[in-house]
Amino acid sequence: MGQSRIFGDRISALETIIDVAELGTWMWNVQTGETEFNEYWAQMLGYTLHELAPTSIQTWLDFLYEEDRGVSERALKAHFEGESSVYDCEVRVYHRDDRLIWIRDFGRVISWTPQGEPEWVSGAHLDITSQKEIEQSLRRESEANRELVQTLEKAQEIGNLGYWKASLETGELYWSNKVFEIFGVTRETIVPSVAAFKSFVHPQDLAQVEASEERAKQTGLHDVEHRIILPDGAIRWVHERADYTPVGEDKVLIGTVRDITEQKEQEELLRHMSLTDPLTQINNRRVFMERLHESHELFQRRGIPVAVIMFDIDHFKIVNDTYGHSAGDAVIQSVAQTLSDSVRESDLPCRLGGEEFGLLLPGTGFAEACRLAERLRVEISQHWYPLADGGGFRVTVTAGISSLSVNDQSPEQVLQRADAALYRGKAAGRDRVRKQR
Ligand code: GH3
Ligand code: MG
Ligand code: MG
Repeated sequence: MGQSRIFGDRISALETIIDVAELGTWMWNVQTGETEFNEYWAQMLGYTLHELAPTSIQTWLDFLYEEDRGVSERALKAHFEGESSVYDCEVRVYHRDDRLIWIRDFGRVISWTPQGEPEWVSGAHLDITSQKEIEQSLRRESEANRELVQTLEKAQEIGNLGYWKASLETGELYWSNKVFEIFGVTRETIVPSVAAFKSFVHPQDLAQVEASEERAKQTGLHDVEHRIILPDGAIRWVHERADYTPVGEDKVLIGTVRDITEQKEQEELLRHMSLTDPLTQINNRRVFMERLHESHELFQRRGIPVAVIMFDIDHFKIVNDTYGHSAGDAVIQSVAQTLSDSVRESDLPCRLGGEEFGLLLPGTGFAEACRLAERLRVEISQHWYPLADGGGFRVTVTAGISSLSVNDQSPEQVLQRADAALYRGKAAGRDRVRKQR
């Protein structure tokens, strides 16, 4: 009596569970085709059980979407033959209002015939339509994402532009394929991180990169050109531009990186060309004037003396007229060489024009400059220029010296004095040094 009450209680408890879990239940006699469904089973399909009566296995098969019959049959076969301990599959069925709903269909054989054939199978149906819809929309979204990533990868190839995303809080870093290529590494050889990135940055440029990161926190823009050292030791220039976005507590930089090595090399070549005299490869007048202005400032601020020597080749027209223009060129080159070879690192020899040279001597006093000018005059005059016919010639120079004075309003004044001294040297017969304080 007591036991049966407990048993009865258990059955009603199970019914409650089935009810709240919104499970359609079924029993099927494989041998006879008899079936038994609960009310919720019919409700899932949009009917009452009464409307579907009398039911048989055919009732179920009529609702099952044709394309999914095979799925169900294969799952049943696997279970009946002992390959799987339960029958479990996902199939679509027709709902009363003509739409397809997704059902998870699962069950197990509960009795066998004496011949070992499956007899009664008991199972349940669960409506998984909304779950399937979420799965599908996630799949569509991830496909759209994949397409977007492909588009971005393609765009970065066309633009030679890599993109990245860095968290300044956690140090995490994402690199696109192009970034790996620019840095001369692969996904197999390196796991990107802010620290790993910084290990590539040229040590002399690291402070600049970090300053740009700091600036980005104020301005929202990270924009910096710097060098990186590749694993094979090659140095490349990159231009990084990134947007700074605070994401909650985190600080995120989303940016691009472009290899600008060739552009930098072009710029460097142009810069070199704009500052160098093509015939002698020493600095030109522009550099001389720039450095003269800088030296003038240093002289005014810190009293560092600056001497200037101007050299002009004597009777150079005759050299050209007698030995030819290319012999003249060789003389100009040789004088430039002598000046470059015999001065200190901080001194600046320049070709001011034609056959005229300037020597800027920061930190050199007037007397010392006079001694240097005289030494150079002698050295230049001793150089022998051989000719093809076995003969040869020498050239002389006249030099004018001056140094910056506290009375100089502009640095050009020191040049005028050196030029005036030079002129006096020419007038006095050339091949000599003249000075004017
Ligand atoms: P002075 O002793 O008075 O300086 O006489 P000079 O003949 O040297 O003076 P001038 O300034 O009259 O002549 C300079 C010559 O230098 C004229 C010009 O043809 C020549 N010259 C200027 N630049 C070059 C160059 O690049 N190559 C060659 N070969 N000659 C040049
Ligand atoms: Mg001359
Ligand atoms: Mg001249």
